Amino acid sequence: MSSNDLQPQESYSLYAHEESVIRQAESMLGKLDEVSNGVRVLAQAYREGYRETVRLVRISDRMQEDLHAANRTLMDQAVDLQRLNDVLHQEIERREALEHELRRIASVDELTGTHTRRHVLELGEHEQRRRSRHGHELAILMMDLDHFKRINDGFGHAAGDQVLRDFGFLLRSSLRKGDIAGRFGGEEFLAILPETDPATAQSIAERLCERVRENRTLWKDQSLAVTVSIGLVAVDRDESLDRAIARADRALYLAKRAGRDRVMVGSDLDTDE
Ligand code: GH3
Ligand code: MG
Ligand code: MG
Repeated sequence: MSSNDLQPQESYSLYAHEESVIRQAESMLGKLDEVSNGVRVLAQAYREGYRETVRLVRISDRMQEDLHAANRTLMDQAVDLQRLNDVLHQEIERREALEHELRRIASVDELTGTHTRRHVLELGEHEQRRRSRHGHELAILMMDLDHFKRINDGFGHAAGDQVLRDFGFLLRSSLRKGDIAGRFGGEEFLAILPETDPATAQSIAERLCERVRENRTLWKDQSLAVTVSIGLVAVDRDESLDRAIARADRALYLAKRAGRDRVMVGSDLDTDE
């Protein structure tokens, strides 16, 4: 039996079947299109995601490089700062040492090891202020070597210097802790004795006079003798240091006039001649 021999009922059913297959095929093709569109969209999304990741990785790499560079710069700067700090520290120490040395030079007399005139006066002013405030007693000694010019003239200036050195030592070692000795001028010295009553000050002065008298300065093959005259005053409570020094100077003058090598206790300036 050929196809032409199909009955109308059968030929309709075949047609409907073909229609249905075609519709199913078309629907499947439509779905395939959707799938391929989905795959395209997904691929696009992956591509963009990949590009973004690469971009972020590059940014991150660059940031890391920048961070390393900044870190190196900071480390270099820290080294520079440390070096600068060391140099500044050395400079500060150098200046402090210099300042210390300058202060020492300004306050200590090289030859005799006693204070300089300026410094002994500063310390004296300080002690006089303390005396005024607290009422402690305060004594001062003005001293001058006797006939010192004869030493210089007879044995030379260097011999005179050695006598001054020895006197400086005797003076410092005759005073107590807290007492202040200064070189006031060439062969003239001032001592400040805080919290010292007149009797104690006098015995210190007498003892010094005695020690100087007994001392000998060895100079080459010579043995040099010198004496000292001392003017002593007890500083009044409200008296200025200048006035007390003037009184001690006056007492010293009287000690010289009385024959030198002695201690003269000063009284009031009113006794001036
Ligand atoms: P007087 O007993 O009256 O004090 O007599 P003097 O000879 O001690 O007094 P004068 O004031 O006539 O002499 C002081 C001398 O001290 C004069 C000066 O050349 C000397 N003289 C001052 N300073 C120094 C110094 O630092 N070294 C030396 N070697 N001599 C000095
Ligand atoms: Mg003299
Ligand atoms: Mg003199």
